[in-house]
Amino acid sequence: MSTYRTLLAGSLILMLGCSPLLAAETTAQVMPEYMGMLTHAISVQTVKGKDQVPALARYFADKLEAAGFAKADIETIPVGNTEALVVRYRGKGEGKSFIVHGHMDVVPANAEGWTDRQPFKLVRDGPYYYGRGVADMKDQTVALVETFMRLKREGFVPQRDIILVLTGDEETDEFTAEAVAKRFHDAEFALDADGWSGEYDANLKPVMFGVVAAEKGYADFLITATSPGGHSSEPNPDNAIYKLSAAMQKIAAYQFPVKYNGITLASFKAMSAHMHGPLADALRRFAGHPGDAKAAAVISADPAYVGQIRTTCVATEFTSGHARNALPEKATANVNCRIFPGGTVAAVQQQLQRVVADPAIEVSVQDPAPVLGPISYPVQPQVMTAVTQAVRQRFPGLEVIPVMIPASSDSRHFRNHGVPTYGVSPAFAKPGDVHAHGYNERILASELPASLDFWHELLPALAKAK
Ligand SMILES: [Zn+2]
Repeated sequence: MSTYRTLLAGSLILMLGCSPLLAAETTAQVMPEYMGMLTHAISVQTVKGKDQVPALARYFADKLEAAGFAKADIETIPVGNTEALVVRYRGKGEGKSFIVHGHMDVVPANAEGWTDRQPFKLVRDGPYYYGRGVADMKDQTVALVETFMRLKREGFVPQRDIILVLTGDEETDEFTAEAVAKRFHDAEFALDADGWSGEYDANLKPVMFGVVAAEKGYADFLITATSPGGHSSEPNPDNAIYKLSAAMQKIAAYQFPVKYNGITLASFKAMSAHMHGPLADALRRFAGHPGDAKAAAVISADPAYVGQIRTTCVATEFTSGHARNALPEKATANVNCRIFPGGTVAAVQQQLQRVVADPAIEVSVQDPAPVLGPISYPVQPQVMTAVTQAVRQRFPGLEVIPVMIPASSDSRHFRNHGVPTYGVSPAFAKPGDVHAHGYNERILASELPASLDFWHELLPALAKAK
């Protein structure tokens, strides 16, 4: 159908012999171009320390310019040795602009663990494509660039500006997001393509699509115990290792209070409908009676769910002593906390100090200083409607719900500058199937054309939504 339309438009161009009669492009038509760009993008090792992000940004900028974007609307913003690429898709100036963002960098890959594969080479094997960044998130970064190119070539003019932001250090410092976010504080909303939105069950049946409307805050605390030290043949009971061990046991036994918001309740209600057993019952009860203590206890016993209803803190490093035959002078532990939205770093620090209940043990905030963000809830109706429609083009009737993720991303910088930000990634996956950040990172091949369909549907819909 659209192929026919395209052929027809193509022959009209020939007949009229002039350029700007523009044709719709099908996803099948642009797939080779997309796969070419994705192959190249995976080959550029955009890990921290290799300083390759500017080269990839240049590559995208050239492609966008060739597709018809004005040089003046393509900008690179250097930050240290990395940079952000910002592309303005100029509209008719009706209403506030919106942002769509992703990142160009990836986490390093230890080649030895990649069975028979090079991490920085895109490879198809069975139903999957493999490569560092193929799921987190060069698949979507390139899909956004491709969609901008495709829309531009099709002659699409949005009612309002769409701003594409590709950052260069999401996996490490997030300095580029911070630098860009403050310039676009007047955008109406932002979409973060780096979401984990679509979930398949084990049989590849879609379960639900989450619009990420909140993240947990990330903070590290250093717990320090000191003691006089001395010769180990004269064992002084004032021993930093013993003191710190006792303090850590108290932290292990402590649970932060139960918390919830509208996202918690909506997501528990939707998730429990697709689950069976005691956890499903608990999620359902919690959604019905927010804060229900028995339900909270069941949810808290599951490591994958406890973070949905509490701030969590866990010991991740322990260092002590300076010689086998010396009494320790110092023992330190790192406690990594994921703070429920609305909480503060200072409050968690004070609570840890109270839990430790020993004024001689110091609880301090580790560098870099944590940056927390607000939630973006309720989700703006225009976004919810347009995302739901785009998802249901592929999976009719699928439930689209607001969710909170336990991790943190570039989104919080936009949220901190007053721009509600929603994580939406059209690539569906089975839980634990993509190995993001790990060995053999992969994505189902089916998700690549589906992503192009999604953005091509969603961006124009939002460009006119009011
Ligand atoms: Zn990512």
